[in-house]
Amino acid sequence: MVEGMIWLTGSVIALSVGSFITVIAYRLPQRILDPNSTLSLSWPRSHCPGCKTPLRLRDNIPLLSWLWLRGKCHACQRPIGWRYPAIEASTAVISLLLTALLPHNVMLLFSLLLIWSLLALSLTDVEFQLLPDALTLPCFGWDYCYMLLTCWQVA
Ligand SMILES: [Zn+2]
Repeated sequence: MVEGMIWLTGSVIALSVGSFITVIAYRLPQRILDPNSTLSLSWPRSHCPGCKTPLRLRDNIPLLSWLWLRGKCHACQRPIGWRYPAIEASTAVISLLLTALLPHNVMLLFSLLLIWSLLALSLTDVEFQLLPDALTLPCFGWDYCYMLLTCWQVA
């Protein structure tokens, strides 16, 4: 029972991270391509790209809201891309697999941070052909920490 709750909580966290990855992968390149852009990772609130209606709290639940709304905006009924739930679900599956396969220590944390950064980096590369320093440099950091810990464990 307790272990099930831990995995459920982990799934919710991983889905939320996946949702944040979609925000990073869209907004970070927008800021690079347009330095005058007022977009940030937190502002404006998530909204429909078609009618600009801000998402209600219940429309902003990773994966579930997309399923509940049947992939359409609640206001204008415009289709919402399948990439959002796909990225959220993929992030959750990868995160849970890593958690199931790796020992539960600080190396798991660095592995998760690295894979989440790589996911965001892959998305910005595919859509914008950009590899922002804000994503590549943390990847080096997570990888470096992981390698140091691995060397320390082997020694
Ligand atoms: Zn809309």
